[in-house]
Amino acid sequence: MEDTKQASEMVVGDPALLEKKIDSIRLAGPHKLQVIADFDATLTKFWVNGTRGLSSHGLLQQGNPEYDAKRQQLYDYYHPLEFSPTIGLEEKTKLMEEWWGKTHGLLVEGGLTYESIRKSVADANISFREGVVELFEFLEERDIPVLIFSAGLADIIEEVLRSKLNKTFKNVRIVSNRMVFDDDGHLVSFKGKLIHSLNKNEHALDMAAPVHEQSGDLNGPSDENDSVKKRTNVLLLGDHIGDLGMSDGLNYETRISVGFLNHNIENSISCYRDAFDVVFVNDAPMWGVIKLASQMCSSES
Ligand SMILES: [Mg+2]
Repeated sequence: MEDTKQASEMVVGDPALLEKKIDSIRLAGPHKLQVIADFDATLTKFWVNGTRGLSSHGLLQQGNPEYDAKRQQLYDYYHPLEFSPTIGLEEKTKLMEEWWGKTHGLLVEGGLTYESIRKSVADANISFREGVVELFEFLEERDIPVLIFSAGLADIIEEVLRSKLNKTFKNVRIVSNRMVFDDDGHLVSFKGKLIHSLNKNEHALDMAAPVHEQSGDLNGPSDENDSVKKRTNVLLLGDHIGDLGMSDGLNYETRISVGFLNHNIENSISCYRDAFDVVFVNDAPMWGVIKLASQMCSSES
């Protein structure tokens, strides 16, 4: 039954090409493979309990209604600009920097605490796709790294992973905006380069470097970033065409891209089918991706 469901949710534009890519990744071996994934609406579900699932940014209640309202006002102003067809990329990039910068400023000014992150995540309408744990386990067993790229907030994504998966994975790294807290647990600043929706993909692998240095519990070698760059085969997961750019910092040999098309399916399916090797529609679980990953890692020909 699971199989029929899977088949109806999976769309492949060029099955022969996909076969070929699976074969060459399989032949190169798992030590050449890495997974690059977007977070919101890719690892998490688009619909949760009948309403739109929250994003890592959207779920945050900073325990200060005045500042929550201010951030909402920014959202109402900038969000339509982000998708405006009449604003050029350069201007839009400037607007996004402005938006993210102001939002981060409000979080600091409004006295965000780590405790309110924990509480926001506990209360949030956010949920991982079914099978995310199994996918991460499958990859962890084979020492295949997973890089999660997000223009959201790394600390929130980590809290979501911790509290909703009830498990930590040593192969999973987050490349996103990272907060700095003082000893009393108050946010004082942000670390590193600002990552917004329009620059999240350029040099994302290079941006991964300071994040790696930050997470002190790494068992891997200190040149983790280099070793990630040596993994020249990629399984990429995203829910926007723009997510395809996540592998831009990498000189990859073979890339299999998976797109989750969560809404507006009729209008977007042909575009997604052309852009991604595999498209999953209807807010699909991860079982199809796990199947794909096991084909890529199979020792049989
Ligand atoms: Mg997304």
